[in-house]
Amino acid sequence: MATYKMLIDVDKCTGCYSCFLACKDEYCGNDYPGYAASQPARGHYWMRLDSRERGCHPKVKLSYIPTPCMQCANAPCIAAATDGAVYRRDDGIVIIDPEKAKGQRQIVSACPHRVIYWNEEAGLPQKCTFCAHLLDRGETEPRCVETCPTGALLFGDADDPDSAVSKALAKMQTETLAPEFDLNPSVIYAGIPKRFVAGEVVLSDAPDECAAGVSVALSGNCGAMETVTDAFGDFEFEGLPAKTDGTITVSRDGYKEKVLDINTRLDLNLGEIVLEKA
Ligand code: SF4
Ligand code: SF4
Repeated sequence: MATYKMLIDVDKCTGCYSCFLACKDEYCGNDYPGYAASQPARGHYWMRLDSRERGCHPKVKLSYIPTPCMQCANAPCIAAATDGAVYRRDDGIVIIDPEKAKGQRQIVSACPHRVIYWNEEAGLPQKCTFCAHLLDRGETEPRCVETCPTGALLFGDADDPDSAVSKALAKMQTETLAPEFDLNPSVIYAGIPKRFVAGEVVLSDAPDECAAGVSVALSGNCGAMETVTDAFGDFEFEGLPAKTDGTITVSRDGYKEKVLDINTRLDLNLGEIVLEKA
């Protein structure tokens, strides 16, 4: 018996919506008895893309976070159901039984990730099944994974050390979405956006030139790190925890050092930092 995991690399997701459309193609108008009833064409997002915008003009970053059902080991949707209408298979897939779950609207609100959708016409809660009907007939991936053109979605048997997903999980820095929910999910993430601190350095005696190669150091409760400005005089510290307090120190021989206090309650663009001649 396999233990299925999905690894979602947010850095590779371009927000093309191919996964969402593949899910619609697989489930809209198609019944899979025992697995899922037909998905309505509108209002359901079994493979949802949550967009996250960070920073402000002129330093803005946009990420897409594919968000299917997390197939949790500690699934509150199972606890909320009566008559065993939601259950977890030995391979880790959580199934909402399309017959037993009829009328059980309380299942929808049990999911903290809000990935269960109510089918008004059928009176049924519905969600992603990892395409269990395909896996059970020998296919190796859900439709969304098969369709993704960038490799942002990886899927496979985590018990098989030679599977692509096992190898990726072993070498990548991974995390879960909203770990505070404590659901022990089978969907694992890499590259979930964190905070960044960015800025641009300008030398007072050469304001029209890009100040490349200037040392910039960050120190604070997340530790210490260093970088240098790029060919445009820009610098950036990415992937910082949301509650970083500290300082940014900008220095170059022959110029007065500049120290700025920072905190990362929000992403920070420090704008233009001018170094005066010493
Ligand atoms: Fe249930 Fe939500 Fe976990 Fe999916 S993500 S298993 S719907 S609690
Ligand atoms: Fe992102 Fe892949 Fe989905 Fe496109 S198909 S939105 S790249 S996960």
